[in-house]
Amino acid sequence: MLDGLHFLPGYLDAAAQAALVSDVQALLREAPPYRALMPKSGQPMRVRMSNAGALGWYTDRDGGYRYIAAHPETGRPWPVIPESILGIWRGVSGYTAEPECCLINLYDAAARMGLHQDRDEQDFAAPVVSISLGDSALFRVGGQNRRDPTRSLKLASGDVLVLGGEARLAFHGIDRIHAGSSRLLAPYEEMAWGRINLTLRRVTLPR
Ligand code: FE
Repeated sequence: MLDGLHFLPGYLDAAAQAALVSDVQALLREAPPYRALMPKSGQPMRVRMSNAGALGWYTDRDGGYRYIAAHPETGRPWPVIPESILGIWRGVSGYTAEPECCLINLYDAAARMGLHQDRDEQDFAAPVVSISLGDSALFRVGGQNRRDPTRSLKLASGDVLVLGGEARLAFHGIDRIHAGSSRLLAPYEEMAWGRINLTLRRVTLPR
């Protein structure tokens, strides 16, 4: 297994998870979820997305994978990353500069994410920090080549995963969602997704 992969199961207790969900709810009211399109094919991604931070990750048919400074539909700047989320980055990233992107991925019961690398950033010295809320997911992670052997991890609500060092460019994806495995989002009618994943990334080189 690659050096620099740190799995922190149960990093967030129930109270911290509930506080995060209410922060995410506020973010999604300001920056509503949208459906991004795969480059070239224009196929909509199954996972719905939004962002917080100076730069939001985005893809559409013609522009491809990239970071943009404003919501594609409202045209407004992305909301700032809440302190509750920044605190997690400071606690686990081992990186001095702040993250610039908090990608919010919303998975329903049938959503999956194919094996991919996160490589749209300028700074691979900064880790990728992933925070799981709600239903558990079966996560797959391999090496820096698509054909390297992979292993699976079950990511449950409150788990934090850090992909740093050699693991920063590891191929990874979500094979399936264990629908109904968490009640965390049940009180939120407007968030009827099974799983929320927050991905924190540094995009540009700090000066
Ligand atoms: Fe990724």
